[in-house]
Amino acid sequence: MNELNPPERLLMGPGPSNVHPRVYKALSAPIVGHLDPIFLEVMEQSKTLLREVFETENELTIPISGTGSAGMETCFVNVVEPGDRVVIGVNGVFGQRMCDVAERCGAQVERVEVPWGQAIDPAQFEAALNTGGKTKLVAVVQAETSTGVLQPLQEIGALAREYDSLFLVDAVTSLGGVSVGVDAMGIDLCYSGTQKCLSCPPGLSPITLSDQAVSVLQSRQSKVQSWYLDLGMIAQYWGETRVYHHTAPISMNYALREALRLIQEEGLTSRWARHRHHQEALIAGLQAMGLEPVVEATQLRLPPLTTVRIPGGVDEAAVRKQLLAQFDIEIGGGLGVFQGNAWRIGLMGHTSKPKSVIQFLAALETCLGTPRERPSGLAAAQQVLERA
Ligand SMILES: *Cc1c(COP(=O)(O)O)cnc(C)c1O
Repeated sequence: MNELNPPERLLMGPGPSNVHPRVYKALSAPIVGHLDPIFLEVMEQSKTLLREVFETENELTIPISGTGSAGMETCFVNVVEPGDRVVIGVNGVFGQRMCDVAERCGAQVERVEVPWGQAIDPAQFEAALNTGGKTKLVAVVQAETSTGVLQPLQEIGALAREYDSLFLVDAVTSLGGVSVGVDAMGIDLCYSGTQKCLSCPPGLSPITLSDQAVSVLQSRQSKVQSWYLDLGMIAQYWGETRVYHHTAPISMNYALREALRLIQEEGLTSRWARHRHHQEALIAGLQAMGLEPVVEATQLRLPPLTTVRIPGGVDEAAVRKQLLAQFDIEIGGGLGVFQGNAWRIGLMGHTSKPKSVIQFLAALETCLGTPRERPSGLAAAQQVLERA
């Protein structure tokens, strides 16, 4: 076998996103022990920086060892006990996955469903909360990466509080790309992943729990079914006592700390505006070419991930294959109901920049060919990019 030498791809799929050079550098720093004073400092700093991106004061704010799905599973297994009623919003793949995880915890799952590509109306949550007895937990995906919908959270959070239920939010594709506002939205449990808008390699899943969620965890009747994801034990290692539970992935934690430092330097508000701005440029370019976004309402479009309908007569898989082979650009195909009829184009974290938009549009135009009826999208995108 030869030495591995992967190409430098432009990662414009649903994740992972491109990694900043400073994060790569952090990954190659010397390993220390997981109880080394230097590493304990890294842990404390990451907790502080994570509270900033989550927009929370929550004490229990830490990265879980594992990808975004590990964060999802951590949230469910720690607060849900067999027989608990759980209301889950489903408008894409990740809402479905939450139902699967909750069912494996023995929950009685009530789905609040709308067609893929739409946001969920809070009134539907209210209807589900109104019937069927006490609800332990209300869960929703803020950034549905399978559809490109940005789900408004405020009213659902208020309903969860009104009905004395915990509020759980999947922020895997939103954290670091759009505001999550854990405290302002009344979120009790929130998880994310490093490889989307935080622009780290996949491998850690930042989570945060409110005091309310922690007290539910502490008053459990049964043991947490997962030993590895038991927050009671993990929180001791990340807290005062530093009791060994499992060896922290040292390099990944270095990487996360550096990625969070980059976010702090940029400022959250500028970072959110940057994601929004570059999506607008991308959509202007696509529309000029005659391609239409799946999500019609502008305010429901998820800035880090755009879903776009595939023009008639185009072999979508062949285009993705050519983008990768000829231009080193990765985009995503559609999932579920969008399989074969939509592309998923990510502009997450470090990837969200003018160069990505222009390179992608130019490459896509080449792949699609330029018949007379399909004008170039480059000028339209450039016009948006030039807006301050
Ligand atoms: C990517 C993603 C996940 C799962 O994260 P993995 O890192 O693939 O485990 C969960 N929820 C959403 C919304 C995602 O986009």
